Amino acid sequence: MALEAVGSSLVSDGQQNTATLHQPANPVQKVNLLGMSRAELEKFFEDLGEKKFRAGQVMKWIHQYFVTDFAEMTNISGKLRDKLVQICEIKAPEVVHRNYSKDGTRKWVFRVGEGKGSLVETVLIPAEDKTGSRKTLCISSQVGCALDCSFCSTGKQGFQRDLTPAEIIGQLWMANFSYMEDVPVAERERSVTNVVMMGMGEPLLNYDAVLSSMRIMLDDFAYGMSKRRVTLSTSGVVPKIDQLAQDIDVALAISLHAPNDELRNELVPINKKYPLEQLITACQRYIAKDGNESARKHVTIEYVMLDGVNDQPEHAQQLLKLLKNLPSKINLIPFNPFPHAPYGRSSRNRIIAFQKTLSDAGFVCTIRQTRGDDIDAACGQLVGQVADRTRRAAQWQKKIAEKNEIIRSKG
Ligand code: SAH
Ligand code: SF4
Repeated sequence: MALEAVGSSLVSDGQQNTATLHQPANPVQKVNLLGMSRAELEKFFEDLGEKKFRAGQVMKWIHQYFVTDFAEMTNISGKLRDKLVQICEIKAPEVVHRNYSKDGTRKWVFRVGEGKGSLVETVLIPAEDKTGSRKTLCISSQVGCALDCSFCSTGKQGFQRDLTPAEIIGQLWMANFSYMEDVPVAERERSVTNVVMMGMGEPLLNYDAVLSSMRIMLDDFAYGMSKRRVTLSTSGVVPKIDQLAQDIDVALAISLHAPNDELRNELVPINKKYPLEQLITACQRYIAKDGNESARKHVTIEYVMLDGVNDQPEHAQQLLKLLKNLPSKINLIPFNPFPHAPYGRSSRNRIIAFQKTLSDAGFVCTIRQTRGDDIDAACGQLVGQVADRTRRAAQWQKKIAEKNEIIRSKG
């Protein structure tokens, strides 16, 4: 979703860089502790000649009390604190813009480098349901994306770079901190209940940094999130799905979007490398890996509804066949248009008919809620303030112009 498009419905505080965590400029590059997992922090303290348990203490200060000043870490000796101030820092990415909506939705734009293209967005969506109240944070893993799915504006920007673990976990840190800024340190709590890796980028193509960040999310010394409440979404990088199954237990969502290879090759080009059969069997292996306690009883299938493209009755039938041996829940996502997008959103009736076919066959099939200007669909499509300056974007514009020219000459 374009930030511009939601601007009118959100209350911006107009402040620039307000939540940036400032450390004095220092010619010596300090180590940023924000993105370190417990294992990495333990090693860090051991290398300093300190006890390993310092790692847990510092993690709690950072991720549970949102403290960035070592002087406030009262259970650490003055001598060690002095040492830490000299060599390290706790630094989240710079916030260049934030919007806090009256309906509770919050958005941040972070600057993660020089130039207009180095911005990423994070969105927090609150929801109330019968299980209680949730705050779901949609986190980015890369600046842009190399995979070029035809319906995704992030793909149209091309790939700029991977985010570091500090830049990834920093999004969660900042979202939690935003509720606790004015609360005394001892009373601070974590507010975000769920994380979905559905912002900019393909998380499995920034594997190590994403894994490290998700470990911090699950760690009881940090966010202590339930493994069912951390979801990684992928367009289908098959070998990395297998690696993920070995390394961590989190929920998996697959951006499927098409029920046959021909159509999926067009919509999700990575399908040419890892076709549907390989993808579905990788999902089956992912679920099979663990017992009942796992976050992996099913995968979530994401399916964007594109008018006249993948939303016909035969597509629903093909989907039923494709998923018949894969425990899955299906989430239909009304397409969120962006400037020059070559698709339209399926009609409400079409989406409901598609859903009915799947639910009648026994699948749990939901339709992603759209609120206001479709805040939810902000995940995965960050146009607007994020500059679109790559060569791919230029080629894309050219293609659209040519297509419009043909239509004009026919008309
Ligand atoms: N790269 C990962 C995660 C980021 S995309 C992936 O593809 O899964 C997050 C979700 O937003 C994906 O399901 C993606 O297909 C969806 N998405 C992207 N562009 C969209 C659009 N214009 N409308 C609706 N959903 C979109
Ligand atoms: Fe990348 Fe996901 Fe967008 Fe595809 S849908 S271009 S994988 S961010």
